Amino acid sequence: MRVVVAGGSGFLGSHVCEALLNRGDEVVCLDNFITGDKRNVAQLVTQEGFTLIEHDVVEPVAVEGSVDAVMNLASPASPKDYLAMPIETLDVGSSGTRQLLDLARRHDARFFMASTSEVYGDPLVHPQPEAYWGHVNPIGERSVYDEAKRFSEALTMAYRRVYDTDTRIVRIFNTYGPRMQVDDGRVVSNFIVQALRGDPLTIYGDGSQTRSFCYVADEVRGFLALLDSDEPGPINIGNPVEFTMLELADLVIELTGSQAGISHRPLPNDDPQQRQPDISMARERLGWEPEVALREGLGLTIPYFAEQLSA
Ligand code: NAD
Ligand code: UDP
Repeated sequence: MRVVVAGGSGFLGSHVCEALLNRGDEVVCLDNFITGDKRNVAQLVTQEGFTLIEHDVVEPVAVEGSVDAVMNLASPASPKDYLAMPIETLDVGSSGTRQLLDLARRHDARFFMASTSEVYGDPLVHPQPEAYWGHVNPIGERSVYDEAKRFSEALTMAYRRVYDTDTRIVRIFNTYGPRMQVDDGRVVSNFIVQALRGDPLTIYGDGSQTRSFCYVADEVRGFLALLDSDEPGPINIGNPVEFTMLELADLVIELTGSQAGISHRPLPNDDPQQRQPDISMARERLGWEPEVALREGLGLTIPYFAEQLSA
């Protein structure tokens, strides 16, 4: 296949590009680098079959040659980033998704939408199955991301219904691993970087809120299983083992040997109190489930951040 990966130089996108190349697909990576980093794909640019194009996907997208699939991962994803770039986030989730759907339509290509567990908001149903419609504050600060992704899902389904576009929607739950930015602001990167620097780990609120963390290799394997399947989704891909932020902090402290302890900061507005994917659908329809436990995945991620900090 020849696959366009929008947002391909970001954390997840760069792993997707690599996985596609490794199985023999060609990749055209589109990115405007607002939160991504060229260094994430530096090892790919010399590989045959990989093309990197600097492009803001909010603008019309043209790709020469054949296109078999378009994967839309373009969007700020860390709360720190989307709160700093609210309009850009709404633009890429609306106009950007539309441009990429049009690209897929022109090429009669499959369209893959990277949505998020954030469409469930601060969920009242736990764990979250795909059938749950969510609990999102439509005018809160986080809505720029949550509603942009909900709009992206709605637009994807409209193209499927109106134009018969061959679509897939994945709802991604908190994913971590090498190639997250050191200053990314998400909890796993923050805790590891703080621990390695000998700073206290910043717990927002009392630390009782939960997340379920998926290692990047598991997540990307799930994406490709969905891309290759006939399932339109939406389908949850995430690791269902749930941790409080206090438990995560304890694990990072144990694995890094940090002596600096923790400090508390105010809880951000509308921060979801709990999050855990129901992955029955992914198990049954894709034969997918995660294999890497959090302890093991952190063990694979900490050396990456240690290297980044020493560089
Ligand atoms: P990231 O910030 O590392 O990557 C996003 C990439 O999109 C970056 O390279 C950025 O430069 C690019 N981008 C943003 N706006 C663009 C635009 N207008 N034109 C072209 N490129 C643009 O984030 P990530 O964690 O790799 O997330 C990738 C995708 O997965 C996002 O769509 C995100 O919403 C979704 N997602 C991620 C997670 C997670 O835990 N990592 C969870 C849920 C959903
Ligand atoms: N969080 C924290 N300390 C940090 C960064 C985040 O306690 O330094 C908390 C945050 O309030 C949230 C959870 O960790 O409850 C996950 O935050 P993240 O930004 O990683 O992802 P999201 O909120 O999008 O799930």
